[in-house]
Amino acid sequence: MPDLFPQPGGDGGAGSKPARVVDRAGLDAVIRSLQSRGYRTVGPTVRDRAISLAEISGVADLPQGWHDSQSPGSYRLTPGADLEIFGWAVGADSVKRQLLPPREVVWRAGAQDLVPHEEPAAGLAPLALVGVRPCEVAALGILDRVLGGGRVTDPRYASRREGLFICTVECGSPASTCFCTSMGTGPGAESGFDLAMTEIVEEDDPRYLVRVGSDRGAAVLDEVESQPATLRDEAARQEVLARARTRMGHGVVTEGLPELLERNLENPRWDQVASRCLSCGNCTQVCPTCFCVSVEDITDLAGTVERRRRWASCFEVGHSYIHGGAVRPTTRSRYRQWATHKLGTWHAQFGTSGCVGCGRCIAWCPVGIDLREEVSAIRASDGMRALAPRPGGG
Ligand code: SF4
Ligand code: SF4
Repeated sequence: MPDLFPQPGGDGGAGSKPARVVDRAGLDAVIRSLQSRGYRTVGPTVRDRAISLAEISGVADLPQGWHDSQSPGSYRLTPGADLEIFGWAVGADSVKRQLLPPREVVWRAGAQDLVPHEEPAAGLAPLALVGVRPCEVAALGILDRVLGGGRVTDPRYASRREGLFICTVECGSPASTCFCTSMGTGPGAESGFDLAMTEIVEEDDPRYLVRVGSDRGAAVLDEVESQPATLRDEAARQEVLARARTRMGHGVVTEGLPELLERNLENPRWDQVASRCLSCGNCTQVCPTCFCVSVEDITDLAGTVERRRRWASCFEVGHSYIHGGAVRPTTRSRYRQWATHKLGTWHAQFGTSGCVGCGRCIAWCPVGIDLREEVSAIRASDGMRALAPRPGGG
């Protein structure tokens, strides 16, 4: 498989540079340095009482003091007076929206002419993502395999992806819905970043341990006032990650999961979950790796035609329409398709799991269906281990 977007990393090369520490002014300087290099800087902000990615001009735009509480079917974000900027787990919004927008025009034609729509990144500054979580970086790697480096490359995705700078911030405040440790995508950052930060807030003195994953990251950090990381800083980072692991909810046992699902296609649990599922598709919309799109042609009265692309969902009846009807006409068949693709057949198709354990599909399901519980129930009925132990052993 061609590697269109070589992954910067955490080991070797620039990644072997010793870690540094910056203060809050240094974090601001990293953002400014990216802007001076021509990047559009996008990071976490508060919008509609949820953490959402938007353009930021500096540290002042980041969500200081905001904390979330998440459980199946529930998400609450509340303000606080503390100094943590990254004290929350992911919201509904994900990096997917930046690279694969929910709606876009593919081409437009007038009565006399065909006007190809310009590639979206034409004339746009490259994107720098600041403060995205390691599970988001992992999701990006999955989207790259599907849309950027497989048999077919999506030019719209590729043009947005090209030149992307990633400054990830390791997760210190996961929600009970998170299970990145099961999927091997967090809470620490191992690869795929230009810079990786860990927020350390002790005695009202916020600082950021910064690791370098690429030459581009090193060049940005070189412009910023920083100190060498001490043993105390490294120990504080390990404490942040250890605390994060204990805060997560139950995980998923991934061992033999594709085979488990394949031999349980007729498990009665699919009927049980279908009796609760609304087939609303929320889970696919918030999932950072669900990539299905649909196209529609729109004609106006002046004779202009547009072909528009929009996010689609395997929970739509028409999604499986072939000829004469849909092959997945029931909620049972659609939920089963989604779960078995995500956790099972994705491996055969793309070489990885389709799930990074971000927990969005759990928190944003209106009826609180928990993918981990569904898998555990199927595993239990298959006579194997049920719930994975809590990551921190608690
Ligand atoms: S399936 Fe759920 S937990 Fe997994 S990546 Fe998608 S939204 Fe996140
Ligand atoms: S699992 Fe939940 S979010 Fe997904 S389609 Fe069913 S009701 Fe909607």
